[in-house]
Amino acid sequence: MSKPDQLRRFLFDKANIRGEIVQLNDVWQIMEANHKYHPVIREYLGEVVAAAVLLSATIKFEGSLTIQASGDGPLSLMVVECRSNFGVRGVAKYKEPLPEQTDIKTLLDKSNLIIIIEQALTNERYQGIVALLEGNSIAEFLEGYLQHSEQLETRIFLAADKQAVGGLLLQQLPGKTEDDDSWDRITHLGSTIQKEELLELQATEIIHRLYHEEDVRLFDPEPVHFQCSCSREKVSNMLRSIGEGEAAGIIKEQDNISVDCEFCGTTYDFDEIDIAEIYASNNPTTASTTRH
Ligand SMILES: [Zn+2]
Repeated sequence: MSKPDQLRRFLFDKANIRGEIVQLNDVWQIMEANHKYHPVIREYLGEVVAAAVLLSATIKFEGSLTIQASGDGPLSLMVVECRSNFGVRGVAKYKEPLPEQTDIKTLLDKSNLIIIIEQALTNERYQGIVALLEGNSIAEFLEGYLQHSEQLETRIFLAADKQAVGGLLLQQLPGKTEDDDSWDRITHLGSTIQKEELLELQATEIIHRLYHEEDVRLFDPEPVHFQCSCSREKVSNMLRSIGEGEAAGIIKEQDNISVDCEFCGTTYDFDEIDIAEIYASNNPTTASTTRH
């Protein structure tokens, strides 16, 4: 039986600690389809997918949160975007064969993870660099980032396989707590979670298994869905930026320009007339195709 794709928030009221569990099945399988990822890459991408949803749920915003790494390492690109409505998409690119050492630091070589938050209403863009210094896992890097940049004590546990991704986040919220040992106790219990449990148990079962002796306030599940923001208009703008000469060259050779979205697999085709229209309109903010 497949579980719903959802985020579950919970709160330890007395301890002032926030908890979140994300579990994705269908959404992950959509992202994973057509890619035939190497199992190592699949696991890292899945962990970042879970982390992006968990982090999105810790901030109040209208827009998108992106976790991204790109560089010259064997894992040349990994990008996951989670929108504030929990629409998520992600893709990874890598060179094969992978090296013998497949830890995340080796695969990313010297490139850091970057977190980008885009506020849709104000067009503001925040960018933070997740240094890959302390720790050896994506979860540990993100914990370090939140500690240094936000001064928020956070523990993150991530798991991914071919079928599902899962994640657990615990975060000490600012303010007084009635119970001094609570953070140590609650994070210690959290650290006993097994990857299989994160992937296979229901969120309520996980919370019960870890915290049946704690006061936990559980919120309603929030659905997470696959969402790709690609459009013909965006691809047109991209084509405009490569220059008319190059586009004309491709048209001459292949009769049309075909662009596949790497996230969702949609193909956008442009023939000679489409391309002429794109370059006829000089203002990139105006779509060359008129809306009816
Ligand atoms: Zn797409």
